[in-house]
Amino acid sequence: MKGQGFRVVCEQEGGVWVRFRTLTCRCGAEGRIKDTGKRLLASSPVADAFRRLGWTSVKPDRGVCPVCSAPKPKPAPAPKEIVMAVEPPRQPTTADRRRIRDALLDHYDEDGGFYRGEQSDRTLGETLNVPFAWVSSMRDAMGLGADKSEASQAYTAEVMAMKEELRRLQDEFLAAFAKRCDDLERRISAAERRGYRSAA
Ligand SMILES: [Zn+2]
Repeated sequence: MKGQGFRVVCEQEGGVWVRFRTLTCRCGAEGRIKDTGKRLLASSPVADAFRRLGWTSVKPDRGVCPVCSAPKPKPAPAPKEIVMAVEPPRQPTTADRRRIRDALLDHYDEDGGFYRGEQSDRTLGETLNVPFAWVSSMRDAMGLGADKSEASQAYTAEVMAMKEELRRLQDEFLAAFAKRCDDLERRISAAERRGYRSAA
């Protein structure tokens, strides 16, 4: 038992020397119990004391500390990777492209630069059951005009005509107004140059 017992450490505690028996775990943790008897405790009671503190596999020269002795918690299951199915945007097939091109040829007035009637990218897309963006890009690719309809063109033209008429009316009125003002100013000047003259 001699030289094989638990390590002995003496430290001062409040001015008094205290003897400890120590035990070290592989993790570096050191356990110690007081061994204050006149004679060193035998290994067996020291080992029991360490076991009561939670140490396991207690030997005079090594043991497993309470922390390392505790059953390891089961590792949490790795969070299941959430796979977000991100579908790429649908692309037009060759057949789709052909249908869109045919519809544009049917409904777009290339010379006028507008859709016949009240058609638009949106209405054509709805008719063909394709995203209207496909119609837009095909219309651009074909070098056609803007996404405007004949009807909207007619409406725009009508409003433009009314605005033009209003502007012309204002011009005519202002011209006539200016002319009458000029006439009056001239007559006033002439009258003032003449001055008052008695009829007599
Ligand atoms: Zn340990």
